[in-house]
Amino acid sequence: MRADTPGAEAPDLAEIRKCVHCGICLPQCPTYRVLGEEMDSPRGRIYLMRAAAEGRMGLTETFQRHIDLCLGCRACETACPSGVMFGSLLEATRAQLRRAGPPPSQRLLRAFVFSVFPWPGRLGAALGVFKLYKRSGLRRLVRASGLLRGLPGLAAMEALLDDVPAATPMPDVIRARGQSIGRVGLLTGCVQRHLYANVNHDTARLLSLAGYEVVIPSGQGCCGALELHAGRTDAHEARARALAAAFPADLDFIVTNAAGCGSAMKEYGRRISGLAPFAARVRDVTEVLAGAALPLGPLDLTVAYHDACHLAHGQRLREEPRQLLGRIPGLRLVELGDSDLCCGSAGVYNLLEPGMARALLERKLTRIAETGARVVAAANPGCLLQIARGCRERGLDVAIVHPVELLARAADAYQG
Ligand code: SF4
Ligand code: SF4
Repeated sequence: MRADTPGAEAPDLAEIRKCVHCGICLPQCPTYRVLGEEMDSPRGRIYLMRAAAEGRMGLTETFQRHIDLCLGCRACETACPSGVMFGSLLEATRAQLRRAGPPPSQRLLRAFVFSVFPWPGRLGAALGVFKLYKRSGLRRLVRASGLLRGLPGLAAMEALLDDVPAATPMPDVIRARGQSIGRVGLLTGCVQRHLYANVNHDTARLLSLAGYEVVIPSGQGCCGALELHAGRTDAHEARARALAAAFPADLDFIVTNAAGCGSAMKEYGRRISGLAPFAARVRDVTEVLAGAALPLGPLDLTVAYHDACHLAHGQRLREEPRQLLGRIPGLRLVELGDSDLCCGSAGVYNLLEPGMARALLERKLTRIAETGARVVAAANPGCLLQIARGCRERGLDVAIVHPVELLARAADAYQG
């Protein structure tokens, strides 16, 4: 027994009771698809939450295991006809479980993840160490020795990283090209600014081409999404408040190109007093660009689009990225089977639950191989890392890119 009572962070019983046990969500749930276990489905997890909330069970290790295995992908929310907000139930449940602490086998890894990942400076330093590890030849030795075999979380982290690009700082402001239609802020993110700085540069350039002045506050930190999904609600709130304060109050939108960050930021107002006006101005880059004119030249490419969970399920944005890619002359967009089934990345889930993450990645790779596409587009850095890792390991000759990278290349190809 880890803890006896649900406590102050307990999920909302009225929300739990909205579940009518119809089971429509089950086939959409990645963990149910892999395991076929009721308690690893949304309905089963809600049943457990209800039993705990009504005092019929404690927060046992079994309870925790079924909750830990949940990806927080929110595919069940999309499927649910009763409108159960599973994401917020999960956040409250994880906050409850946090009081009892993580399972002993995950303590060190979680401590490392949460003391490094949400801190852009520390993350940059850790990635610098990784760069040395790779360039010195140590990586080859470690891999050959099988040293990481007993450390699945560390092995997953090591396998995810291929290379760390050189840092390319961004200016504080980028002026609008042509007639200005507004002024927006750009979130640079944590993983994004270090591993996909090119995506941030492409995002800013496209927004400028579309007619926006782009403000990029250099002091901005992490959005707190990782902490929210882990039940670290105090840390999440502190980060949200600091992030909102870093952006000028008169911006039309705060633009993100990381689905997980955007989803968390759009919901700041639901759980943090005073942040509703900031949250209302948050937009994914594809939402902003879909409504703008962009000069796009031809790209002779066949592209499959993967729906990042926190874009499709968290923000309900499916059409905008497809519409944008469809505007590129010559680009053939092909259907990816199960495109909105999680790839197993889910924030740091692939480090904490590498077995389930791997099973989901294998399914995603099989669907990708079926398309014959040489390019897969996905609008979240976690998906980019996870799918790229899978393609490398399976030997698939497929480039994994953010949609803005394709749009920026098409803008370069524009002849006027
Ligand atoms: S959030 Fe995803 S993994 Fe969790 S219960 Fe819902 S569909 Fe399943
Ligand atoms: S679809 Fe909704 S109401 Fe039906 S079992 Fe799933 S969570 Fe409950």
